[in-house]
Amino acid sequence: MIWKQEVECAGRKELADLQGKQLADLAGYIYNNCEVYRKKFDDAKIKPGDIRTIADIKKLPFTTKEDMRDNYPYGLFSAKQTDVREIHVSSGTTGNPTLVGYTRDDIALWSDVMARCFCCAGAEPGDTIQIAYGYGLFTGGLGAHYGALEMGLRIIPTSSGQTARQLKIMQDFRPRIIACTPSYVLYMAEEAKEMGIDTRNGNWKIGVFGAEPWSESMRAEIEDVWNMLATDIYGLSEIIGPGVAQECTYKEGLHIFSDVFYPEIINPETGEEMPEGQDGELVITTLTKRAIPLIRYRTRDIVCINYEKCRCGRTSPRISKIKGRTDDMIVVRGINVFPSQIEHVLLGIEKTHPHYQIVVDRKAHKLDEVEVLVEVDQKMFSDEIKQLEELRGKIKKEIESVLNIGVRVTLVEPKTIERSMGKAKRVVDKRSI
Ligand SMILES: [Zn+2]
Repeated sequence: MIWKQEVECAGRKELADLQGKQLADLAGYIYNNCEVYRKKFDDAKIKPGDIRTIADIKKLPFTTKEDMRDNYPYGLFSAKQTDVREIHVSSGTTGNPTLVGYTRDDIALWSDVMARCFCCAGAEPGDTIQIAYGYGLFTGGLGAHYGALEMGLRIIPTSSGQTARQLKIMQDFRPRIIACTPSYVLYMAEEAKEMGIDTRNGNWKIGVFGAEPWSESMRAEIEDVWNMLATDIYGLSEIIGPGVAQECTYKEGLHIFSDVFYPEIINPETGEEMPEGQDGELVITTLTKRAIPLIRYRTRDIVCINYEKCRCGRTSPRISKIKGRTDDMIVVRGINVFPSQIEHVLLGIEKTHPHYQIVVDRKAHKLDEVEVLVEVDQKMFSDEIKQLEELRGKIKKEIESVLNIGVRVTLVEPKTIERSMGKAKRVVDKRSI
């Protein structure tokens, strides 16, 4: 089933006409309603009237994560706050979180693109879905919820955690679809085995997995252990949350809903467009969003794009799985972690050095674990153990309050952490992704 056939299967020319018209409307809307963008346009000597076709998008300036941070909380909004119906936050690079908001129409858009995702994955109206993404400020739970509601699924909103209960719900209510992070579904398989559940005869037949990068080998493992189809969903809260792109049952790239999220692939160094099919940074313009529309947002995700018609019948272009990042952000259990956040914390704590290392590991199907190694004054090691423990506890508490995930903190002596070119290596990612 294809949820919005008229756009998902549109010809390239037809789609370009629609995108061009929407971009022209967006340029006028954003120029008239958002001071920050008006200044950006003026600085680039662009008037909304200069934007007539989708090709004109190249005249427009980029938007970055730093723009979001610098204009926190409401600077990048185009809608009045009284028209905003929901807000979500995700972690920012330092200090302030990234705030996003939705008008009523934006929620309708979110519901629509998420419904397209579930159809892509093979869901049918009347199916039951277990949504085990976290509900709350994280966009995963509610985004999936709105889409499931829109397409007529029966929803079991378990949110994340409480694994034994998740498994009981799977057995008792027989949901055909599970939506959660790929590492969590593997973790649940381990728990299920311990409880004596035969996972290959479980009820989940379709998985919609995202919010963290994962590999083809992980997919093979999930499909094998649960005897299900495992599909990849992509999204980011700045653009809308989950629902930006989704694999169809052929699993040959993620269909990006380009009638509303216009994709460009650029060379991250020069900002120039990459030749079709080559790897580059994904840049997205939200053509129809109202509360906080973004023009040419630099996602920092490295992908390639394929414009060929898919075997499923959709013409929406397909992006590859994420091949890397242009910054050093890591995603752990659906949460964005920036090394700079930890640096920021350490700068505020005496007796520590801004030399640290984040080690991420995923041991034998357990959830991702984060260890932070922190260099502290040599003197601390000759003091009483109690003082060392107090300092460790303080660092752990402050890092956890900023990152919103549990971490293990290990204090080490100065110059213990490996340096390269004089700089400490900030991130060691041991997960096989
Ligand atoms: Zn397809």
